[in-house]
Amino acid sequence: MGKQVAVARTVKALCRVVEGWKAAGERVALVPTMGALHEGHASLVRIGRMKADRVIVSIFVNPTQFAPTEDLAKYPRTFAADRARLTEARADLIFAPTAAEMYPDGFATTVTLAGPAAAGLEDAFRPTHFPGVATVVCKLFTQARPDVAIFGEKDYQQLQVVKRMAADLDLGVKVIGAPTIRDPDGMAMSSRNRFLSSAERRAGLVLHRVLGIVADGVAAGQAPATVLAEGRRLIEEAGLALDYLELRDAGTLAPAGARPSAPLRALVAARIGSTRLIDNIAVRAGESS
Ligand code: AMP
Repeated sequence: MGKQVAVARTVKALCRVVEGWKAAGERVALVPTMGALHEGHASLVRIGRMKADRVIVSIFVNPTQFAPTEDLAKYPRTFAADRARLTEARADLIFAPTAAEMYPDGFATTVTLAGPAAAGLEDAFRPTHFPGVATVVCKLFTQARPDVAIFGEKDYQQLQVVKRMAADLDLGVKVIGAPTIRDPDGMAMSSRNRFLSSAERRAGLVLHRVLGIVADGVAAGQAPATVLAEGRRLIEEAGLALDYLELRDAGTLAPAGARPSAPLRALVAARIGSTRLIDNIAVRAGESS
């Protein structure tokens, strides 16, 4: 087997590598992840390679973005397989700090958010989630000083939150959104899919199907409220516990209104057993009649 991608465990080790690249005039891309990597993550690395000379992938299961009731302890940790996948995807460096490295004793600062982080979607069900995400992403941007950072549209609200923060705080990073990678059956790839039984997985396919129905219905000029009501019914009929199915402005995530015209996004979150799934799709506003 060839040489494995290098690993930095400390901020100091990360900075040393990045300084060398910057001194050589190389552009740096960052792909933040929580590990348990799949093809979706690998696609972000490939985009990073197109946009920059060097690609750093951070692997950090960030405790501050999990509520005490959530699955932090259960979150899959598969470092050896992740490293093999990133070697194959030709990443240049893994940054895999410990929680103590990221949050030393006395750590007391959190980024406060509004706008897309207060859209009444994920934030309504996970109120501490985005402050945790934004704070760790802000730290990663400051530590790695990337020119670009790649985030998946799979976590669409997160992508908008990070774009807003990078602009508002002048972080000097171009945030790039990457399309959601799906399994052949349409299920969006997720580290959490491994927790689904085969029956749960079959039931979970309703999310992608409903998003398609919403996108087609709205593009054909149907009233959003009607299409959404039908979508919610189908999801509940499949046995899922629905958190939300919403149609929003694709940029601000504000509610779409009865006769939307700007680019839209349909977003869904639902629970199957103890697993929570999210998905979303681009929606073209219908012809106004
Ligand atoms: P995570 O490790 O789940 O925090 O995800 C790390 C990054 O990978 C985030 O920017 C996600 O949006 C992105 N990501 C996760 N799943 C997918 C997928 N199926 N397709 C594209 N990007 C994804």
